[in-house]
Amino acid sequence: MEKIITLVFHNRGLRSFIEVDLCSECPRQDDKGCCGFYSPVFYPIDLAYLLFEQPDLLDYIFKLDHLTILDASITVNNVIEGNSYRCKFHSQDNGCLLSQSLRESICRHFVCAGIGWWEEESMQDWRDFFDKLSNYEIQLNNEWASILKGQGLTLRDPSLRPKFFDELKKLYQQELNRPPDFITLMPEQDSRSLTRPLSFGADWIL
Ligand code: SF4
Ligand code: SF4
Repeated sequence: MEKIITLVFHNRGLRSFIEVDLCSECPRQDDKGCCGFYSPVFYPIDLAYLLFEQPDLLDYIFKLDHLTILDASITVNNVIEGNSYRCKFHSQDNGCLLSQSLRESICRHFVCAGIGWWEEESMQDWRDFFDKLSNYEIQLNNEWASILKGQGLTLRDPSLRPKFFDELKKLYQQELNRPPDFITLMPEQDSRSLTRPLSFGADWIL
């Protein structure tokens, strides 16, 4: 069965994301799709965004159990459920409970291999954009983690978190004032379609 799938690429700088119309009827047919195999990791850029836009969500995250807290990242570990897992932000009825901009990087960029949009000749401009964006995010996250560590700050120590977040907010604001060309040169939104043969259950490749 061939299916026309539409992707909408949203260029929101460090909050960019890819919307896929197939997700609401995911061929995995397990109410979890790719989210059943992932634990979101919030890195400095994501944490800074939450600090400005939804600090109560950050408070909520810190109160969850089974977190992995490193110097500059927080992993919200999923729980085993059946043959896969369930992300703490996933609801069986409504999918991800977080709006796109509140999700961490992988959750905003990921599209399953069954769709494999990056193989389409007509979408190489967006492939280039998301490749550059991923590298840009990794570079900034590493750079900021190193600066914060150099200041003796770590998320592992709860007493240091307020200072960590104050310094992180400064770094984030400085960066927002100088977006790189690959972001400013792309449109804010672009919709593209492709056709793929569907397979179902575990046959649909993540
Ligand atoms: S597996 Fe693919 S279709 Fe299913 S939710 Fe994930 S990205 Fe969407
Ligand atoms: S945060 Fe949302 S998008 Fe990411 S794995 Fe969890 S449910 Fe899926």
